[in-house]
Amino acid sequence: MLSEDNRPMGLYIHIPFCSSKCDYCDFVSYSMDCKAQQLYLDALFTEIDMVKDRYNDRSFNSIYIGGGTPSFVYEGFIASLARKIYGSFHILEGAEFTIEVNPSSFTKEKFFEYVQAGINRISVGVQCIDEDVLRSNGRIQSLSNIKETFKILQSAEFPNVNGDIMIGLPGQTERDVLDTVKFLIKHNVKHLSIYALQIERHTMLYNKLRAGKIKPIKDETMLTIYNSVYRLLKKEGYIRYEVSNLARPNFESRHNKKYWDDSQYLGLGVSAHSYIDGYRYYNTKRLDTYIDNMAKGKTAVYSKEYISDEKRRTERIMLSLRTTEGLDLAKFKADFNEDLLRSRSEQIKKLIDLHMLELDGDILRITEDYYYVSNTIIMELL
Ligand code: SF4
Repeated sequence: MLSEDNRPMGLYIHIPFCSSKCDYCDFVSYSMDCKAQQLYLDALFTEIDMVKDRYNDRSFNSIYIGGGTPSFVYEGFIASLARKIYGSFHILEGAEFTIEVNPSSFTKEKFFEYVQAGINRISVGVQCIDEDVLRSNGRIQSLSNIKETFKILQSAEFPNVNGDIMIGLPGQTERDVLDTVKFLIKHNVKHLSIYALQIERHTMLYNKLRAGKIKPIKDETMLTIYNSVYRLLKKEGYIRYEVSNLARPNFESRHNKKYWDDSQYLGLGVSAHSYIDGYRYYNTKRLDTYIDNMAKGKTAVYSKEYISDEKRRTERIMLSLRTTEGLDLAKFKADFNEDLLRSRSEQIKKLIDLHMLELDGDILRITEDYYYVSNTIIMELL
């Protein structure tokens, strides 16, 4: 059994609205008018009131408003939500406070609202700056929306911006990806999250794939693009701290790191997850059920899972090895009573000989050239 975790927690709030559905999206999102958004905000307030007393003795050092598209909701929604959060939880001074925005719904007025609400980190869903790629994948924003978003952020000298990039979108070339990265560097983003496209079932893209209308990008091509992007960003002074995340020094996302270092977090809103005192809680994915449950004073949680030491052990290996901090073998032994160098000696030796893993004192980590295939390496060690 692991010891009690008194580190500050993270707070995640899900906003499930988008103006339309991107072809590859399998997130929980709905296109709804202001009235429905107001109902959702009321439900969020109810959920906060229902749970806040349980966290009287806990503090939070990160808040993350994600979606969906949080910038899609009406003006005043986010300010009102931020006031409720600050009035209900113990938010530490200097807490990281992030909002995700889509360039198609980001405006100067909303930007000022966010700044006044205490938001100090903005994550822009750029994905790609090529208009044809954006359009053919159902992305709502245009290049001029993207440019306008960065104009607003730069003219206010907003200091902490992340850009999300997607690799592997149908029709996208290596040049498109590199142009997008260069655009973000030029606009002074401090952090980039770079995701490889996953074609999930029940998405428009999946249907197009099945109908033979698109071809998936080959793994080798993805690897080439990923490594080109990484080399460019490294040359520009960005540091990779996790497989998909790079940042200028001191601009790593505090909130994201909580998901990888076994920290606790509270998730509120439809489809949000929480991880608290050894349990993972899953809120309902249905917006109508969520709103209805809140109105009736019922819980938003539809399932709860105990994270056994065995499961936590597996997650520690999987998540630590995705980061450049790596897996601390001494801490692993103290927490799980297992010397991994003994229990997985053959596999570790083989992967070190293949230069896929390196051992630096007590720290085991994946070597620079092999991050993109980290999943395959990690599977060998479980
Ligand atoms: S903006 Fe994001 S959440 Fe909304 S539909 Fe597109 S991918 Fe999904």
